[in-house]
Amino acid sequence: MSKFEDHLIGGHLSTSVGLENTPVSASKFGFRAYQIFTKSQMQWKAKPIDPSIPEKFRENRKKYDIRSVMVHASYLLNTASSDEELRKKVREGFHMEIERSDFLGVELLTFHPGSFKDATLKKGIENVTSMLNDVIKKDQNVEILIENSAGQGNSVGKTFSDIAEIIEGIQYKDKVGVCLDTCHAWASGYDFTSDEGYDRMISEIRDTVGIEKIRGFHLNDSKKGLGEHTDRHEQIGKGKIGLQGFSILLRDEKFRKVPMIMETPKGEDGYMEDIAEIEKIL
Ligand SMILES: [Zn+2]
Ligand SMILES: [Zn+2]
Repeated sequence: MSKFEDHLIGGHLSTSVGLENTPVSASKFGFRAYQIFTKSQMQWKAKPIDPSIPEKFRENRKKYDIRSVMVHASYLLNTASSDEELRKKVREGFHMEIERSDFLGVELLTFHPGSFKDATLKKGIENVTSMLNDVIKKDQNVEILIENSAGQGNSVGKTFSDIAEIIEGIQYKDKVGVCLDTCHAWASGYDFTSDEGYDRMISEIRDTVGIEKIRGFHLNDSKKGLGEHTDRHEQIGKGKIGLQGFSILLRDEKFRKVPMIMETPKGEDGYMEDIAEIEKIL
């Protein structure tokens, strides 16, 4: 087994092959974890998933030994907003994402908390918590992951303490975790590329959300600098984080079983290069 296969590193994959065939796409890269959208990420509506799909999907997962599948929710779901009209649509949209994820039987559903616009951060955090309490059901299977933001504009989730505050008010806390996007963490000012910086970030995580709540990663390099609050992904090793910048995280045993999903700009055309880079430092 190669070092790469010992990790749960994967990438975001296209569903143009059909949801049920995404494990086949994953196998071409040696991924045992990956991410998909189950519907268009820029639209509210979606056709229901054909009832024949989940079984084929599960069979293919088994065949290609896929350990974890993450769904990325629509970008339209601004849970931090105070606009009541919008919140109604977000509630329905989020509910649909959970239903579709459970219908397929995936493990994780990641979303961006969104922006509080002209309200306050405190209000934004309350809005995210209240939305999650509206949509999360006690008996759902999929775990909802709150993704950290790059700190752009009035986004919620640029620090782990913001995210801890969201989780604090959640009724079914066991249904909620965190997806740590490395590009976003870097953009919002976490320098995890040195031993000291990495330790500082880890102790902040430990003191806020808790290490065990880090249930997924988005593994992206950044076109922009540390603390620039700009969300621009780059191929692994080609950006400002740089290849060595990932080595401490990738070698950290405590995250060995946590899926790490690349969302690099070239997508499936670039993953072979990304993998070749990652293999140099594993
Ligand atoms: Zn991400
Ligand atoms: Zn991003």
